[in-house]
Amino acid sequence: MSILVVGSVALDSVKTPFGRRDNILGGSATFFSIAASFFTKVNIVATVGEDFPKKNVELFKKRGIGLEGLAVSKGKTFHWKGFYDYDLNTAHTIATHLNVFRDFDPKVPADLRDSKYVFLANIDPDLQRSVLGQMRGPRLVALDSMNYWISNKERSLRRILDRIDIFLLNDAEARQLSGESNLIRAAQAILRFGPKAVIIKRGEYGVLYFSKGSHFVAPAYLLESIYDPTGAGDAFAGGLMGYLSRSRKADDSAIRKGIIYGSILASFTVEDFSVNRLLSISMKDIRGRYERFRKITRF
Ligand code: AMP
Repeated sequence: MSILVVGSVALDSVKTPFGRRDNILGGSATFFSIAASFFTKVNIVATVGEDFPKKNVELFKKRGIGLEGLAVSKGKTFHWKGFYDYDLNTAHTIATHLNVFRDFDPKVPADLRDSKYVFLANIDPDLQRSVLGQMRGPRLVALDSMNYWISNKERSLRRILDRIDIFLLNDAEARQLSGESNLIRAAQAILRFGPKAVIIKRGEYGVLYFSKGSHFVAPAYLLESIYDPTGAGDAFAGGLMGYLSRSRKADDSAIRKGIIYGSILASFTVEDFSVNRLLSISMKDIRGRYERFRKITRF
């Protein structure tokens, strides 16, 4: 079953202790869709500016990603500029240029409104709500957000949470949104805002999953070399949603398995800048890490 994603398609300028790249392909919808494309068809709803390189469009097409909902608008592509210190868990934003996203009015193509799996990737919560409002009876809706939107548009974000099945956010964002420092209490407070489940991403320490009746903890896949953590969270969501839509499931046990696939897609993402590493792997590599994951977590 295909997935519909709305989110940012961006040009990023990123500096880590291991190097620096300017205007590389990034964005929440980008990392998500490339990760999920290993499992299923993904259709993007987003906008780019006239400066968006053709080679990036070709790259999406090559992975079979649907671009019917990708508008080319007058102006410049969304640009995020950030850096990481040796603590790679924390992204420091230098600048967020919304550019064409500032006036974007997302239109879900008519033939995609019945998509059963919907991912509202990190973007303005008003755009997430607009896209959700155009969908007809989705089976599973997941949403990601970040500190930028919690600080600037908390009320808009809170308005859609009771329509969400899985809410993904990182530990600092969970603390910011809930006003709790303990992550169990933070998750419980966020569940009271309305989502059926919450996944708290903790970078190299893995993820915590909480729903009303269940609780699951997964470590991150252990890696020796990490070059650029940008996109790990979105690739995690891509692996999770990709697996769920491929298996046509959304129950607790499928979500647990999906979390492992998500962690694996995230682990590949951080091994190079942009989506470079994701473009060099195959399903065989993903299955290899899945088996190793099983071994290192056997109890
Ligand atoms: P993450 O998975 O959290 O590392 O997401 C990284 C991606 O998020 C980058 O490629 C950025 O282009 C994108 N991004 C950064 N800030 C924002 C924002 N405020 N809204 C939407 N996307 C963003």
